[in-house]
Amino acid sequence: MKTDEKKLPDNQPCFKYNSEYRIAICSVCKYGVPPRSVKRHFSDEHPVIAKKRKAEIKLFRQEREPHLAQVGDVVHPDQVCAPIEGILTHTRYVCPVGDCRFEGVARADYPNHHQTILKEMNRHCKNVHAMIKQQKWEGVPVQTIFKNPYIK
Ligand SMILES: [Zn+2]
Ligand SMILES: [Zn+2]
Repeated sequence: MKTDEKKLPDNQPCFKYNSEYRIAICSVCKYGVPPRSVKRHFSDEHPVIAKKRKAEIKLFRQEREPHLAQVGDVVHPDQVCAPIEGILTHTRYVCPVGDCRFEGVARADYPNHHQTILKEMNRHCKNVHAMIKQQKWEGVPVQTIFKNPYIK
């Protein structure tokens, strides 16, 4: 895909290694790549780049793969923490009513997701809590290392 190539300038590595979480981050998707997927991630998801960067990917695997944390071992900080560089930041919206935990996360990588989520939040408030007035939504930035689940 041409768009993929545009997302990865020649001077940028395919994978970034984050030593704090011991994860490989794909520079195109801007998500962490689980260890078992590192081998196939670029050939499956970004085949054009995979061909061009074969040597680089091989070297990354040789150097980093043994050090990568297993998905279950990746520590998900539950306090707000500094964002992880190279990973997409999404926006979480939470229902303002007491202990109703309804929430929506607007994903940065889905087109028009923000409007969709806000519509959903408004619909929830109207249907569940009979709120007539439109809420003023304030989002909280969240990141997810792997495509799921969300971390703060
Ligand atoms: Zn990718
Ligand atoms: Zn609610």
